[in-house]
Amino acid sequence: MSDCLFCKIVKGQIKSDIVYQDDDVIAFRDINPQAPHHILCIPRQHIATVNEFTPTQAPLIGKLVLTASNIAKQLQVDQDGYRIVMNCNRMAGQTVFHVHLHLLAGRPMHWPPG
Ligand code: 5GP
Ligand code: ZN
Repeated sequence: MSDCLFCKIVKGQIKSDIVYQDDDVIAFRDINPQAPHHILCIPRQHIATVNEFTPTQAPLIGKLVLTASNIAKQLQVDQDGYRIVMNCNRMAGQTVFHVHLHLLAGRPMHWPPG
């Protein structure tokens, strides 16, 4: 998707603070962090929302979660705890329509979220 912000980050057309990348996923720091650690894990492939996931993408979806948990270990927040969030569409507050998993850590998280 040529006009997708996160596709531009994947292509390197927009700079980002990348903390991990491989052939399938990229993880980078959120530009407007909501916690001391706020990292976005995204597939390289453009998928607009969680609604568009297909069964064949199950390994990719799993890899997004594993990427987040590996980064949490590297950041040494895995034992204190962290939150992973995927917002889908308007009511959840999704603003970038290229699926992404938020990894939030470094402060107490309240439940339910606001
Ligand atoms: P959403 O609200 O769609 O779940 O999350 C989108 C996230 O992307 C937001 O937390 C927002 O701060 C982040 N974001 C928006 N534009 C940019 C950008 O250009 N660079 C980075 N690193 N993050 C961005
Ligand atoms: Zn995209």
